[in-house]
Amino acid sequence: MKLKGIGISKGIAIAKLHHFKPKSLTSFKTYATNQQEEVKRFESALKKGDAQLEKLVMQAKERIGDEHAQIFSAQQMMLKDPELSKNVLVKINDFNLSAPYAFKQAMSEMIAQFELSENVYILERISDLEDITDRILNILLGQDDMRYTFDEPVILLAIDLLPSETMHLDTQYIQGIITEKGSKTSHTAILARNLGIPAVTGLDISSLESGKVAILDGGSGIVYANPDENTFIKYQEKQQKLLNLQSLYKEIKDDPAKTNDGHEVYLAANIGVISDLKEALDANAFGIGLLRTENQYLESDDFPTEDELLNFYLKVSDTFKEKTVTIRTLDIGGDKNLSYLNMRKETNPFLGNRAIRYSLSYPSLFKTQLRAILKANTHNNIQMMFPMISTLKELLDAKDILNETYEEIIKEGNQISYPKIGMMVEVPSVAVGIEKFLPYLDFISIGTNDLIQYFFAADRMNERVAHLYQPYNPIFLNTLKSIIDKANKHGIIVSVCGEMAGHFAQSLLLIGMGVKHLSMHSNLILENKYLISKTNYHDLQNIVEEALVLDHYDEVENLLNNYIKGLD
Ligand code: PEP
Ligand code: MG
Repeated sequence: MKLKGIGISKGIAIAKLHHFKPKSLTSFKTYATNQQEEVKRFESALKKGDAQLEKLVMQAKERIGDEHAQIFSAQQMMLKDPELSKNVLVKINDFNLSAPYAFKQAMSEMIAQFELSENVYILERISDLEDITDRILNILLGQDDMRYTFDEPVILLAIDLLPSETMHLDTQYIQGIITEKGSKTSHTAILARNLGIPAVTGLDISSLESGKVAILDGGSGIVYANPDENTFIKYQEKQQKLLNLQSLYKEIKDDPAKTNDGHEVYLAANIGVISDLKEALDANAFGIGLLRTENQYLESDDFPTEDELLNFYLKVSDTFKEKTVTIRTLDIGGDKNLSYLNMRKETNPFLGNRAIRYSLSYPSLFKTQLRAILKANTHNNIQMMFPMISTLKELLDAKDILNETYEEIIKEGNQISYPKIGMMVEVPSVAVGIEKFLPYLDFISIGTNDLIQYFFAADRMNERVAHLYQPYNPIFLNTLKSIIDKANKHGIIVSVCGEMAGHFAQSLLLIGMGVKHLSMHSNLILENKYLISKTNYHDLQNIVEEALVLDHYDEVENLLNNYIKGLD
């Protein structure tokens, strides 16, 4: 039986299936017999819960690093929320409810509130609230041993797994995880990735039987239950190959990325949240080529403050002290809306008040972010760039506001270094007129995701026009080449941070055109470094020359695929 779900943690697992049974709670009384006793019971459970989470934070730090341990320190904060305690105490004192019943009620109310949100980040915090509910109820009912043990290697099946449950799994035995509920960005997915457990979500687990052997491919999201012998052997080989590659990637981690004739390129990371830092460090990224700053705005219920933004940027620049961190100013609008902003509905949001247009229309919001970026540049390793510039005036206006902000911070008595300034090349007007912009810039970063969308007038979110999303199209490649040539001629650094940069075949075109800075998801860095080392820069230059005069995208695609097939 072959099933297709969503791969949330890469890797291949082959083991027997095992249905996970969450520890069930014993029943508890609704009403209190002694209110004072119930208050004490609740308060001591809170303390114990806090201590348990503290321990879990330490364990998580050791096993998966500081950033991910924050999942549990955030739960600690939620537990300490005075509103929560107040609500529980009112229920005990005024309504005579038992401590577990009062706590469960209070948490259900909070979860119901969260469920009203349209913000995915808020919705994903619901699993943290459920996790906290379970923890405190378990303590109140005296059944708080959270560990789960197994006596043979298994692929775990669960409707859903809470972060604590994932953290308490014995990874010696858990080879893989399959859940019905979840997403790539859920805490469980993050934990699974960092514990190195392959995982798939979005599958109906009721058809899968405990005790039967299965294959799980966390990359493609495919699961085979009761595989035939051929599939079994194929995946065993695939698993072995993957393990070999992983150790190979580790070996080359500290080497520079070079073609076999010594042409060096720099592979940086695209990140968006603190928890991305570990992966970027593990891949020994050349720096941060794109820090998307939308998450801090999307994750909260109100505008983040200057200090909140500053803390986040400082954490990134501290982590990458010796390396360059490229912060992109807010790219809100398009498909990313802020619930608290009352953003007006637009007929064509991708052509609407998005990114720099948005920032320029709300200067005080823009300035808060600029202040945080400028103040975070304590190691002088931050450079910044503006997204979706489409006219020279926009770039100059953005720079004016930046300069004004810089002067203000200096006047306040702060010593800050002025960062290098760049912009994203994402709009055809800029691609065609790049020379007009170059004198005002230290670097450019080509956002091929948007540039392709606007170049072919094909919405990148619309499946029905996905065939027009053509990175290999020779007309597009000629445009890219002209941007790169002009920037190189002016001595302006060119980086590419769209998906093309991390797509090996497409990145070869970029390298052949003379791009030296590629920025991609961290988990692609070592694989690309390894593959690039098999290529030859002169070959790549020739391929580009050939590609530019072809007519159709599939001819270019074939040209590259044939070249790649010939690599050893
Ligand atoms: C791009 O458009 O290529 C890009 C990197 O920006 P985003 O994907 O965040 O729009
Ligand atoms: Mg973009």
